[in-house]
Amino acid sequence: MDGGDEVDIQEACPTNREASQSTGIAAVSEADRARMLDRQGYSPEVRAAIERENLLPTGLLSRAHACYPQHSTLLSTDPFLFPERRKYRGVSGFREVVARLTASGIRLGDLEERELFIEVYRFMATRHVLNAIDWRNLASDSLFALTFPQPGMMPRDVVEAYVAADGSEARTRVARAHLERTNPHDGKQRLNRPWFDNDRGERELLEGSQHKYPQCQLVFDRTTQDCFAFCTYCFRHAQVRGDEDMFLQQDVAQVHRYLRRHPEVTDLLITGGDAGFMPANRFAEYALPIISDPALLHVRTIRFASRVLSYAPEVVLSPGYRPMLELFRRLSDNGIQLAFMAHFSTPRELLHPSTIAAIRRLQHHGVTLRSQSPIMNRISLFRDERGEVDVDRTARNWIDLGNLLAMLRIGFHSMYCARPTGEHHYFTVPLAVLDTIYGRIHRSLASISRPSRYLSMTTSAGKISILGTTIVGGRKAFALKFTQARNMAWLDRVFLARYDEKQNNVDLLEPFDTPEFFFREELREIERSLAAVLGEGEARCGPAPPRDRDAR
Ligand code: SF4
Repeated sequence: MDGGDEVDIQEACPTNREASQSTGIAAVSEADRARMLDRQGYSPEVRAAIERENLLPTGLLSRAHACYPQHSTLLSTDPFLFPERRKYRGVSGFREVVARLTASGIRLGDLEERELFIEVYRFMATRHVLNAIDWRNLASDSLFALTFPQPGMMPRDVVEAYVAADGSEARTRVARAHLERTNPHDGKQRLNRPWFDNDRGERELLEGSQHKYPQCQLVFDRTTQDCFAFCTYCFRHAQVRGDEDMFLQQDVAQVHRYLRRHPEVTDLLITGGDAGFMPANRFAEYALPIISDPALLHVRTIRFASRVLSYAPEVVLSPGYRPMLELFRRLSDNGIQLAFMAHFSTPRELLHPSTIAAIRRLQHHGVTLRSQSPIMNRISLFRDERGEVDVDRTARNWIDLGNLLAMLRIGFHSMYCARPTGEHHYFTVPLAVLDTIYGRIHRSLASISRPSRYLSMTTSAGKISILGTTIVGGRKAFALKFTQARNMAWLDRVFLARYDEKQNNVDLLEPFDTPEFFFREELREIERSLAAVLGEGEARCGPAPPRDRDAR
């Protein structure tokens, strides 16, 4: 049909049930759907919301299940292993999970190594995630690797010292010594704290904000310093652990005072931890002045960085979430985009009734959804039996994810590489391999369903995209480009790095034909001047940027 044709909407869009029957796609019947609701144990209020707001139409469930049966557990009828408690936390919570698994005949093994990881990085798993894991196929289960420490994540020598240590105090000492070496601020984030001179002529520092790129200010509010579950690759572990140098925004009005002085800021990004922890009354303190104050007209989008849709989507379905939904609706009705930034990296996370219902509920309340998705070993990057990267399986995961995001009307914002923080060695593979995988994904997805930028990696200089490889004068090179930068003029330039089949950190690539990258000298100067104002030494904000050739 030509896009200009007029159609009768009623005729073109029969009810979902009719649509399922007319196309023969009836993978999920009304009876299946009823069983699904029973299995999830939804309260009467949640069930009422699902029906009233048409959150789980059988047409959508059928299509999703029929297209992706290999990822879908929508029709699973297995009883839940973890039916009661909302979450398990810390070493003691981990041991309770292990005890329950053992009682069900499931043995995890490598318990000391896993507990070492938990002592360094923490552990938390929700009822939702625990019941979404396929406990019969742990070796290939992405959600298991996403939330449970795995053998090989911690360096071997640290594991050996931990296992050999005499007693729990000695073990904790080994864990703490490793914790000191974990480099939580890989991109010199301490230098991103903004400041301004207030009406009394005093300098005010925003201890809980980052403002590195002109259009977007990040806020780490005091209410968002927790997560629904902990990701094993967490790159915000200073926040999650509560390190003394974490970012913490106490004063909401201070954010508005800063914004009024910075008309270049169009996006306020509420993050953490997890923005999903912010209570509605606290969010109203941020949002209502943006709706009503003419001096804040330049703020056009509020982004909400949250993994609630992967870890605890039932929160969005609960009656207690209504005040938040009303605020979202109010923002939308006043021309402010509320962008919910999810972090899906596997189709499995999406193919769950609670997640689908929560996505649709947010959309019905004027929320835009986008996914910024990490590509991580064992979670969304797979290996074959020989331990080699399985390019086909990995690309398939991402192509299915891209198509499923489109089906659910979620924008595919980005795919990003593991950052050099935490146990980076475990989660990453060489950039050359990632580029091959990305190429496969990019050309397999329709342009409307592709990530909105090339594969990127965050550095102190900015977010660098890997455009691909090229041959110059017979030599192979990576073509790179900033998508965000400390100096936005750097975005105008494509630059080349020597092709390196082993390097996994874009910051450590060598320039192709110059002693250092074009931005390095200016970056050193920017970082020096920021450090001088902020009083930050190398110990707190990380080492100076490499002088490309002599950094090796
Ligand atoms: S949601 Fe973010 S802050 Fe929380 S554990 Fe995951 S990566 Fe870390």
